[in-house]
This record gives sequence, structure tokens and C-alpha cells, in this order.
Amino acid sequence: MTKIINVIKGTKDILPQDITLWHFMEEKALEIFTKYGYKEIRTPIIEATELFARGVGDTTDIVNKEMYTFEKSDKSITLRPENTAGVVRAFIENGMSRLSAPVKLWYKGPMFRYERPQAGRQRQFHQVGCEMFGIKEPTADAEAILTAVNYLKSLGLNDLTVEINSLGCPTCREEYKNNIKKVLKPYFNDLCEDCQTRYEKNPLRLLDCKVESCKAIFEKDEVKKVINSDFICEECAEHYRELKKYLDKLNVKYCENKLLVRGLDYYNRTVFEIKSNNLGSQNAVCGGGRYDSLVRNLGGDDTPAVGWAMGMERLYSLLEKMEPQKLDGYIVSTNSIEALSFAEELRSKGLNVEFDLQNKKFTKQLEKASKNAKYALILGEDEITNGTVSVKNLSTSIQKTVKRNVVKAEIKNLLKSSHKTMKINDTTVSVKNLSTSIQKTVKRNDVKAGIKG
Ligand code: ATP
Ligand code: MG
Repeated sequence: MTKIINVIKGTKDILPQDITLWHFMEEKALEIFTKYGYKEIRTPIIEATELFARGVGDTTDIVNKEMYTFEKSDKSITLRPENTAGVVRAFIENGMSRLSAPVKLWYKGPMFRYERPQAGRQRQFHQVGCEMFGIKEPTADAEAILTAVNYLKSLGLNDLTVEINSLGCPTCREEYKNNIKKVLKPYFNDLCEDCQTRYEKNPLRLLDCKVESCKAIFEKDEVKKVINSDFICEECAEHYRELKKYLDKLNVKYCENKLLVRGLDYYNRTVFEIKSNNLGSQNAVCGGGRYDSLVRNLGGDDTPAVGWAMGMERLYSLLEKMEPQKLDGYIVSTNSIEALSFAEELRSKGLNVEFDLQNKKFTKQLEKASKNAKYALILGEDEITNGTVSVKNLSTSIQKTVKRNVVKAEIKNLLKSSHKTMKINDTTVSVKNLSTSIQKTVKRNDVKAGIKG
């Protein structure tokens, strides 16, 4: 038999049964980021290797160990491991610094890192991210964090932890770096191999180490004292204080983590991560921060910037544990032609509707409706003769028979408002607000106004 060819290690197919949640994440991204004034940008998946060496930094794991790089016509090309560098390149190359600030760009798409595949870590994975250019004030940092939090909320993910820290500016960080080196010197031989390299090249990144024996060293009193010291200069401290003030005002809950330094070289001042307790050890869904020198380092004008990226596979695994999205209605009928045409009619009105293509027994169809839909739309013999339909709310089991030509106009409102129950009769609807328990009966064509009022 011919040998089958498998998917590459660390990559995955996204199958039709998984795609609904992907569409949901993508649609919400467009909806929420648009609200905050972001425009989508799509940059190439391949870029010059130099972009990442200079943009992400040649002391980072990403550039040192994780890039997929190949040579083509004497040019070194890399599959993007992240997209901030690509967006910054496009920003510069397309003269976007001439646009009035802020310039807000968002993206989604695959990233590639040669890492050890494990739960929450793939070699091809997807990120969605936002980058804001041109604003140095901490309002931008606060709004960037708020955008991420509200995107997560729109997906139904509320119980996440926002961690923040300030890395200061290159000037005030210098002394901090030296102090870190000094206090860790006696432990140099106990540090992991990576940390020994970081010690010289980028001592701040030591604090990001996930190796337990290194983490234990950072717990030592004298080391902790340096880590917890207030090393940032007055201007950076003021920026950080302001950010916290805005987050407090916006009711964004956060905790400060002095060990949060982020894996990339380009950050200054604000860094943040959003973590979930439901993800095991790869618990970060979002990482970001301020990168005021990156645009200049890549050849553009001096432009402050702040941004973040989220791992969509990690979002997916959080969403997967939630209730799947149900159909609006499932038509229960032993008359296939009637069911088919009624389904088409409701679909053309924007509802998600299915019926039993195999025309199985009535009870089997009801079972299927209960499993897959919010409402069973029953077309029995009586209903067909009378031009009616029995609408059964599958969560409350309340059933009402209404005229088919009347229900058609109302059913969309009825089904859309899952947080409101409505009682149907021919001319009026009782609308009950489930948070206040206030109920009122209104004319059918006033339902919209009744809900809004
Ligand atoms: P980690 O500490 O988990 O390695 P990171 O700092 O390398 O994360 P970033 O470069 O900040 O990650 O990327 C932002 C987000 O992208 C992460 O918070 C995570 O959700 C996701 N991510 C990063 N690497 C992977 C990967 N190999 N597979 C799946 N998702 C990833
Ligand atoms: Mg990583």
C-alpha cells in the first residue's frame, strides 16, 4: 500500500467541525477593533530575515532558535514568527507616518516558530494583534489593554488576569541591568545554559526564564530585593502611574508582576500579558507592550507605538470548553417539501435553520432539535392545514402555535433576543426583561421600540 503523508509535526488542520469558533474569533476581531478605530492590514507571511534580526532582536529565542529561514536567489527569507516587525515595515514603507496619529492597524494570520510542540505550543499557529502608532501618552497603553480585554469579553472570556509591568527606558534600565548582574553573579554557575548566555547579552531576559532552578534563584531575598527595587526614572514612573490610574478608572483589573519582561527586545516602559488559569503551563493568551524605538530602528521616523498579539489556538481551547453555538431553529416535520420551503424562507430572513433531510420519525426529529437548536419549529399536519407553526422554546419548553405568515416577520426578533422571553399571539407580544422582571405587552410592530425602551 502507498504510504500516507502526514501533517508536519507541530502543525494542525483546522477541520470543518472546528471552523465555527474560528469564524467567531475573526468576526469579533473585526467588530471590536473597528469600534476602536483599527483598520485591518495583511502583510506577507515571508519577510527578509534581517527584518526579524533587527526588529525582534538577535538576543531573543525567536531569532536565535525558532525561525524558519531559507535562502532563495541569494536572499535570506524567513517565515514570520510574529507580526509586529512586518506591520512596522509596512507602516514605514507605505509612508503611514504622514497620516495623522494615531495610526491603528490590526492583523490576523499564521505565524511560524520552530519550538518543541506541546499543548498550547505549535510550529504554525495563529495570532490576532493590534498595533497603534504615534501616541506616546499612557492613554494609548490603557486603550490598547482595554481593546484586548474587551475583545476577550466579546468572546465570553471574562475570568482572565491582566499582568502589567514597566521596563523603564533604555537609560534607567541600564543601572537595573547592572544590579541584576551583580546580585546574580554568585549564582552564575547554577543558572541554566540559556540564562548564562542572557547574563551577558540581555540580563533583563533572565527574569523571563521558565526553568524551575532559575526561578528558585530569583526567589532568594537579596535577588528579590533588586527585582522589586524601583529602578525606573521619574518620567517612566509617571507614565506607569498614569496608566494604572486609567486602568483603575476603566475598571480593568490588573496585577503588577515585576518578573514580567517579555521575550522580545523591542519593548520599553509598559509591558503586559493576559493569562488564563484554564490553560495549564502555556497560560498566556496575550502579550504586548510599548515599543517606542522600533520604528526608528527599522529605518522610519521616530514614532512611539504600543501593541499586542494573542494566540488564537489558546483562545480556541478556552472557547472549546464553552457551550457550542446552537441553530436558531430546527424544523420538525414529516412533510419534507413543506419543511424545505419553510427553512428556505427563514434562512432568507437571516436565521440559521435546519430540518431533517432524511425525514426520520417525529420524535427523533424533536430529539435532534433539542440537541442542536434554540427553538423547534413544528409543522405537523394541523399546522400545515391551518398555515400555522408551533414554536417551542427548547430551554423553557413553552410552546405556542402562531400563524405562519405572522411568525415569519417576528421570528427573527424573537430568536435574536435570547435574553428576553416573548409570548406570541396573533397581534401582540409580551416582552419580559429578564434582569428587571418587568413585563409589558406591545403590538407586534412595536416590539423593537418596546425592547429598546
Ligand atoms: P510564551 O511565553 O508562551 O512562549 P511568547 O512570549 O513567546 O509566549 P508572544 O511572542 O508574545 O509569545 O506571542 C503572543 C501570544 O502568541 C502568546 O501569548 C501565545 O498566546 C501565542 N503563542 C506564542 N507562541 C506560540 C506557539 N508556539 N503556539 C501557539 N501559540 C503561541
Ligand atoms: Mg515563546
